[in-house]
Amino acid sequence: MMNKRVKIKDLLTWAPESQELVVMGWVRTFRNNQFIALNDGSTNINLQVVAELGKFDDVLLKRITTSASLKIKGHLVASTGKGQQMELKAVEIEILGDSDAEKYPLQPKKHSLEFLREIAHLRFRTNTFGSVFRVRHSLAYAIHTFFHEQGFVYLHTPIITASDAEGAGEMFRVTTLPFDNPPRNEDGTINFKEDFFGKSTNLTVSGQLEGELGATAFGEIYTFGPTFRAENSNTTRHLAEFWMIEPEMAFYDLEDNMNLAESFIKYIIRFALDHNRADLEFLDQRLADEEKALPQDKRSEMGLIQKLEFVLNNDFERITYTEAIDILLQSPAYKKKKFQYEVKWGIDMQSEHERYLVEKHFKKPVIVRNYPKDIKAFYMRQNDDGKTVAAMDILAPGIGEIVGGSQREERLDKLESRMNDMHISTEELHWYLDTRRYGTVPHAGFGLGFERMVQFVTGMTNIRDVIAFPRTPKSAEF
Ligand code: ATP
Ligand code: MN
Repeated sequence: MMNKRVKIKDLLTWAPESQELVVMGWVRTFRNNQFIALNDGSTNINLQVVAELGKFDDVLLKRITTSASLKIKGHLVASTGKGQQMELKAVEIEILGDSDAEKYPLQPKKHSLEFLREIAHLRFRTNTFGSVFRVRHSLAYAIHTFFHEQGFVYLHTPIITASDAEGAGEMFRVTTLPFDNPPRNEDGTINFKEDFFGKSTNLTVSGQLEGELGATAFGEIYTFGPTFRAENSNTTRHLAEFWMIEPEMAFYDLEDNMNLAESFIKYIIRFALDHNRADLEFLDQRLADEEKALPQDKRSEMGLIQKLEFVLNNDFERITYTEAIDILLQSPAYKKKKFQYEVKWGIDMQSEHERYLVEKHFKKPVIVRNYPKDIKAFYMRQNDDGKTVAAMDILAPGIGEIVGGSQREERLDKLESRMNDMHISTEELHWYLDTRRYGTVPHAGFGLGFERMVQFVTGMTNIRDVIAFPRTPKSAEF
């Protein structure tokens, strides 16, 4: 057994002075043939290991290169040098894995995020990605904790589905048919009866419809899984493969839904602030440094941590879609023709509109509710005005839409007539409609894009930098 090591993060907090202990990790730098900065991924803080001059073999010392992996036995002592309180005085150094520092792509200097994306298989070893992915982990953990504490059941909805009921976006087809010579029907169309599932199937764009089946039995469920959209949008907030959290609750109306979403978002931000302070401080500084290069008016008004605390300490603004459009029409930006896209009642707001509302007008997260029915999905509950549905989107500064949700239409006749209007087959979705046939209840739910949440908490501007191996148009490396 070899795993009796102490993690650097723990060692820096409990500091059992002079006791002999073992650490393992990767060399970040080696100075003066004496000082090793060792990192083991538990924290961005490197442990200074001192290899006293004359004590170790020259051949061994030569093998201590950037990114080589080491096992070190030593004693923790108060440091006489600047920059750290404690250091490890090495007694034994074992090279676990050599590394050719000349060839190692990560040199001890600042690399651009674009370059690091090309070597995403190694970028976890940088401070920025170390912090981002430890925060990502914490957020995922906090999400499960939040729902568990509230008595929600974690439901694993399928990844391969046979319907694009949502109409949420372009889908990736799943098939085992030979693409060069697929079986055909007499009319020339492809015969999916011969496909693996006996029908045409896709990767899921959302687990919501299945989630509703769970909610109308357990009361409250959530999903947390991968979703796929073959949308050809090369933006800083769209991925072809992303993770989504979709709670679905029976006996909830739109207001209950908004309340849950707001307390949920605050809970997971609070969790990260409580458990990832050092990483968030690092990311806060990184963002401030990055923004120094920008003109004054493009910089954030608040630092990262300040922004997160601000979100925690203030209520989200709640407005109707109609109010949002009025604000846009009254805005100086509109009057000066600064918007590229048209503004009028009925539009699907573009990112520039959403950002105006959250960044310029309200300067905090905004929940917009009661959208026109024509721009929203069939399952959203119809309001009495005949024009709008009980939808709600949460818009966040710097990101735009982070949550999309609604109260669901629980009245069978209204749901069926909406489906007919939108040419959605009630036969194909017979299983979904059964929830409305057998003891239907008011219910609601929402979807939170996990990566957008991670972006918000870490301050990373490109969504490709908060998922380990991003899948985007023309890119599925690693
Ligand atoms: P957008 O208008 O930003 O494309 P959407 O209206 O398509 O979003 P929904 O279908 O409501 O989004 O999905 C729910 C949530 O999933 C969104 O609020 C967002 O946080 C996230 N999301 C949607 N599409 C993507 C994507 N391509 N990559 C990452 N996250 C996404
Ligand atoms: Mn979209």
